[in-house]
Amino acid sequence: MAEVAQESTHVWSAKQRIAVFLSAMRHFAQSLRAQGLPLDYTCLDAPGNAGTLALELHKAIARHQPAALVMSAPGDWRVLQSLRAAAKEHALAMDLRDDTHFFSTVREFASYAQGKKQLRLEYWYRELRRKHHILMEGKNPMGGKWNFDADNRDAFGKAGPQSVPPPSRFAPDGISQGVLALVEARFASHPGSLHSFAWPVTRPQALVALQTFVEQRLSLFGQYEDAMWAGEVWLYHSHLSCALNLKLLNPREVVQAAVDAYSRGHAPLAAVEGFVRQILGWREYVRGIYWLHMPDYLERNALNAQAALPDWYWTGQTDMACLKDAITQTLEHGYAHHIQRLMVTGLYALLLGVKPQAVHTWYLSVYVDAVEWVELPNTLGMGQFGDGGLMASKPYVASGKYIQRMSNYCAACPYDPAQSTGPKACPFTTLYWDFLMRHEDSLKQNPRMAMQLKNLGRLDAQTRESIANHACAHRHSQL
Ligand SMILES: Cc1cc2nc3c(=O)[nH]c(=O)nc-3n(C[C@H](O)[C@H](O)[C@H](O)COP(=O)(O)OP(=O)(O)OC[C@H]3O[C@@H](n4cnc5c(N)ncnc54)[C@H](O)[C@@H]3O)c2cc1C
Ligand code: SF4
Repeated sequence: MAEVAQESTHVWSAKQRIAVFLSAMRHFAQSLRAQGLPLDYTCLDAPGNAGTLALELHKAIARHQPAALVMSAPGDWRVLQSLRAAAKEHALAMDLRDDTHFFSTVREFASYAQGKKQLRLEYWYRELRRKHHILMEGKNPMGGKWNFDADNRDAFGKAGPQSVPPPSRFAPDGISQGVLALVEARFASHPGSLHSFAWPVTRPQALVALQTFVEQRLSLFGQYEDAMWAGEVWLYHSHLSCALNLKLLNPREVVQAAVDAYSRGHAPLAAVEGFVRQILGWREYVRGIYWLHMPDYLERNALNAQAALPDWYWTGQTDMACLKDAITQTLEHGYAHHIQRLMVTGLYALLLGVKPQAVHTWYLSVYVDAVEWVELPNTLGMGQFGDGGLMASKPYVASGKYIQRMSNYCAACPYDPAQSTGPKACPFTTLYWDFLMRHEDSLKQNPRMAMQLKNLGRLDAQTRESIANHACAHRHSQL
């Protein structure tokens, strides 16, 4: 095991992201040593640390003179290439083992995808439900439906969320405190802060977080999956992505815990299916897309978006209330839930026309759960439509009215989501119409955009012109 600076600097990683990885590594190393297993571990501040995984592998090969290398598949294409190249330089065979922390293998997804013109989550998810017999009654989905989205996805209503259970947070122990001091000293200029660091970094902690989620939040997970509320960071989400991606939890046990909760009558089917869909469905699907299409996936830019990411993505200093809240909590905790990522920070970048690669760098930097296999398809594919529809059947675009419906952000914002021009115009609303106008010709080919384009068709020429001018002025003010 090697802690190397490059993994924290190839993108400008947030301090919490660096700390959670290093702390989990050090705790894992401790548990291996406690079991008496042989371990070669290089600390970040060890004298002579070579700074990259490949260079550390060269050194380890020189130390151990192995006959061959065995590695479980890494999460980044970049890491796989660099370690393969290092092995090749030493003429060593590299035995790459499947990562068992997934339901499916990369090969399985590739063979599922073969010959299909379009890939869609729904069909892959159903296949995995059948194969692993999850929420099934014989050959049929439990409850007679594959998808309970219609029962889920409410807003909180005027009163806001009521008595949200506190999240599972774990005070840093001695190992974590050492890591926090190291990160603060070594990566002082990196984004975000460490003062709220309380993520699970050991398997026992991750199991507590899983159990607490199932007991306290799962039953309302589906209903409020898409809802947002200013200052409410945690809501009814699981906050397990980081523990899952660090392999402190296996997705099988997470899915099983949710299914058991349904069997015990502790959570409704709609909530459990909604949660299982995220893990068995989306998580496996995005991984398949990533490995099927790397490395060219990284370069895709179907909408030819070229703008830079506004600087305030790294500080949260904007007067747009929704963006300010989502970015501030991201920098403070390394966490935002899916709709904040997709329909606030992601949507704004898409509407503004930011280059998908710049958006990708931001997401990979700031979240504690960010690993490229999951972050890239979500950002470039789902969030920015950079893959032209491989991952999602249409661009996720909406006006400020969507954010108004799903949150209370707009009530405390200087802008008005109903206005697309004028001094109070909501930038999301202005940019939404501008986006549809800019991409009207290509979007016409997509039947799923028909309703939105029909509404665009109702705008007269003067309104269109004034929106385009307003969008242009807004773009210049932000870039
Ligand atoms: C632009 C963008 C970037 C994202 N980057 C990441 C990332 O770097 N790492 C990451 O793990 N997730 C990423 N996601 C997916 C999702 O937003 C997070 O997994 C989720 O918000 C994590 O919070 P949670 O654990 O409370 O999730 P919950 O809402 O409680 O969901 C349960 C679990 O389902 C899985 N899951 C949910 N949605 C997705 C999804 N779309 N893709 C893959 N797995 C999913 C996660 O493991 C998550 O822990 C991204 C989404 C978007 C739109
Ligand atoms: S008015 Fe627009 S910018 Fe302000 S919070 Fe609502 S959606 Fe966001």
